[in-house]
Amino acid sequence: KIKYRELFNGIEVPVKLIDGEYVCPINFDNAATTPPLKKVDEFIYENMMMYGSVGRGGHKSSYCTKAYEVSREEVLDFFGLTPNDGYEVIYVKNTTEGINLLATLLCNRNHNKILTTRMEHHANDLPWRNVAQPFYAEVDENTGKLEIDTLEDRLKKAQGTIKYVSVTGASNVTGYITPIHGIAKLVHQYGAKLIVDAAQLVAHREINIKGKTKDENIDFLVFSGHKMYAPFGSGVVIASKQMLEECPPFLKGGGTVSFVLDNDVYYKDTPYKDEAGTPNFLGVMAVVAAMTVLKKISFEAIQAHEEILRNHLLLGLKQIPKVILYGDYLEQNRVGVIPFNIQGMHQDKVGEFLQDKRGIAVRTGCFCAQPYVMRLLGIDNEERYKYLVNPKLEKPGMVRASFGLYNTIEEVDEFLNVIEMMVAHN
Ligand code: PMP
Repeated sequence: KIKYRELFNGIEVPVKLIDGEYVCPINFDNAATTPPLKKVDEFIYENMMMYGSVGRGGHKSSYCTKAYEVSREEVLDFFGLTPNDGYEVIYVKNTTEGINLLATLLCNRNHNKILTTRMEHHANDLPWRNVAQPFYAEVDENTGKLEIDTLEDRLKKAQGTIKYVSVTGASNVTGYITPIHGIAKLVHQYGAKLIVDAAQLVAHREINIKGKTKDENIDFLVFSGHKMYAPFGSGVVIASKQMLEECPPFLKGGGTVSFVLDNDVYYKDTPYKDEAGTPNFLGVMAVVAAMTVLKKISFEAIQAHEEILRNHLLLGLKQIPKVILYGDYLEQNRVGVIPFNIQGMHQDKVGEFLQDKRGIAVRTGCFCAQPYVMRLLGIDNEERYKYLVNPKLEKPGMVRASFGLYNTIEEVDEFLNVIEMMVAHN
């Protein structure tokens, strides 16, 4: 049975309950995934009644096909676009699949060069390593901030051979928000296109794909539904329609073809050729429902609320002895993601203590961003081999608290109390 908590004028999110018991009353692990909103659950249920296969015959299927196609326009609208702006929406499983799709389409064929950064989630690093030898923009090892001048330096030295630059919109480790429109302008000056991994940004800030001027436009955007209050299993790639038309399909199979001859295949146009197999209709409906709710709450309200929580937590942590904070404590241009450690305590122990004492969920470890976390911890590449060759060594890492729009200031106080208690007993 799901129990909901109300916030922002009747918009409800689930509170986890199993057999009437709170399993996790304080969820500070929203950077990993966000619980689906009640309105999203209801919308999925309504659409379940009309369950049918997209793009196939039958009354219910035709409802699904129409709703599925309309959803592409709704997604474009969420990012300030219309169908005439030259972008297409492709549905995938999640951000990881979306970036693999782009890596395969953009780099595999023409051996195009790619640049990414050292602050990325593995999902925006490994797919590029798989198809090319990426160049990397560096981060400042003290503050963890992206060094934009190194990004420009790599572009300049590559003399126009780097065709794509892929950066995160917000870091899942430090929460820093990347100046995506400014980077787009820079990248375009060197004849490249910009891909933005929006997994951590999409539920926290309004994203306009178009910048103030055309050269500030973002060329590709990728995100997962489960990080914006929809359930697991659906993700979105927004890409230039023309570029997609020029590429062969990522996956091959049903739904992608107009003709299959005995020895020849004729593919449909995008988006159909890029979505092989029966699509995740309910997952896509959930993404659209989540977008509607987020817009209704408004990103101004979400940002203001999350900033209060973030600053309160940072200030509280800063005052507790033995707490090590990472990144720039004063940086305001960040989402509510805060990494820290407690001196003399392994991060996993901190996570367990929070869970055991008060059922507080956080994430511990390297958050699928090892190169970035290791830089912040000051562990160089050489030293990292130690952990590789000796599995008995305790792995380095951090504790991460990350907010969703439903968290409260009382929860932050509770969290700080538990941390204080832990430090006192350590
Ligand atoms: N990029 C970032 C910045 C992320 O935080 C995550 C998820 N933690 C991903 C990509 C990958 O998302 P998914 O697991 O949904 O593919």
